[in-house]
Amino acid sequence: MSKDQEYSLFEDVCSFVDDAAQHMDLEKSLVNHIKQCNSVYSFSFPIDNEDGTKEVLKGYRVQHSHHKLPVKGGIRYSDEVNEEEVKGLAALMTYKCALVEIPYGGAKGGVKINPRNYNEKQLEKITRRYTTELIKKNFIGPALDVPAPDYGTGAREMGWIVDTYMTFHPDSINAKGCVTGKPLPLHGIPGRTEATGRGVYIGLREAVSVEDDMNALGLTVGLGGKEVIVQGLGNVGYYAALFLQEAGAKIIGVAEYNGGIFDPNGLDIKELKAYQKENGSFKGYKNTQFIDDSREMLTYKCDILVPAALENQITNENADKIQAKIIGEGANGPTTQEAEKILIEKGILVIPDMYLNAGGVTVSYFEWLKNLSRVSFGKLQKRYDMKKYEILMESIEKATDSQFTEEQKKLIIRGATEEDLVYSGLEDTMVNAYHSMNDMRKKKGIKSMRTAGFIVAIERIAISYRNLGIFP
Ligand code: GLU
Repeated sequence: MSKDQEYSLFEDVCSFVDDAAQHMDLEKSLVNHIKQCNSVYSFSFPIDNEDGTKEVLKGYRVQHSHHKLPVKGGIRYSDEVNEEEVKGLAALMTYKCALVEIPYGGAKGGVKINPRNYNEKQLEKITRRYTTELIKKNFIGPALDVPAPDYGTGAREMGWIVDTYMTFHPDSINAKGCVTGKPLPLHGIPGRTEATGRGVYIGLREAVSVEDDMNALGLTVGLGGKEVIVQGLGNVGYYAALFLQEAGAKIIGVAEYNGGIFDPNGLDIKELKAYQKENGSFKGYKNTQFIDDSREMLTYKCDILVPAALENQITNENADKIQAKIIGEGANGPTTQEAEKILIEKGILVIPDMYLNAGGVTVSYFEWLKNLSRVSFGKLQKRYDMKKYEILMESIEKATDSQFTEEQKKLIIRGATEEDLVYSGLEDTMVNAYHSMNDMRKKKGIKSMRTAGFIVAIERIAISYRNLGIFP
């Protein structure tokens, strides 16, 4: 997964906006306003290592657009973190939120470290110090800027962030909403961990359900039997692969940073993940083929390719060799703008990141709402359903002789759990956004799903900017 030094994710995102603007009737100055990053905070901070040495780390937080507040976006720990990357990722968050109608502006943060080189204690120190730097400059807060997990971070880091924030804001009743993706006992929400992967699955399921699009690709309708290759078996890739497999797709390959695995008969994702956890890599797993140069796997023959690792993976160097019919972008920015043009020429359907990985921020929104309202949605719903159940039972039993079975009664009494509500909200969001994007593609007569997604998002952002006016 080598990276081209010259590559700027932010410039790529801006080019996608320019592509979309060509199909819209917008003033150039407004497009330019929408594209810019509102605030870019880059800083350095030291940590004490256990061996007595000191190290200075580079941290970033970028707020792309304030057209909706708070701004929202993950925090990434990776060796590849740089200002252009964080700016690009922050911008993508703005368009992503607008497309799926989650009322946030976009943001992103990062620390340039390889988290695999630090132990848990050091990571806690780094996370708490990074958070403190954000607090000092007002780059975090439930009404201002709400981070979340991203590549290299997870619920554990979000727990340290909320604890640090609450230490500095002991009297803030909304403090828990300063970050999402928290562990469940720390005011997290069920389903957040798998939300992005579940969203990837829902999005792909929608894509393969559109008959004329599948006919154009020479594919059958539905996920059943579709051959899938996934790049990255982290949080996004793992759950996407798992849900796709459960829906009948065949995962024939998984590419990781330290080698890939290929089996035309299909892999068992749960078992493979357990093996990787225990052994550190896929090497030696069953009777499968281990592939040293896992990047090569992006060009293997399959129906659906899901890049779910980092950006800049499908470039003009490998785009013409891609054999997949559909690319489902689980990662942010895996396809460069130049590469996408080649893919579209080849007739490949690219389901863009700004849509496909929006499940994470969608469920983050539910978590944030829960934190601000200080209720557990499941409990509320359950009480409501109990009442409804009693009335329903009474009237049904009075009106007829019909009886529910004990099993049916139990189901009605249980009511919706918080998890059910999260999943149905996620399902609804992903389904609606897919069709708004695909309908726009057809209305404008364009091939690129990404351009269509950007048009839908920019239309909404432009309305906000116009309504807000300019201060003073
Ligand atoms: N990091 C995730 C993303 O790129 C989630 C962001 C969030 O939940 O705020 O969409």
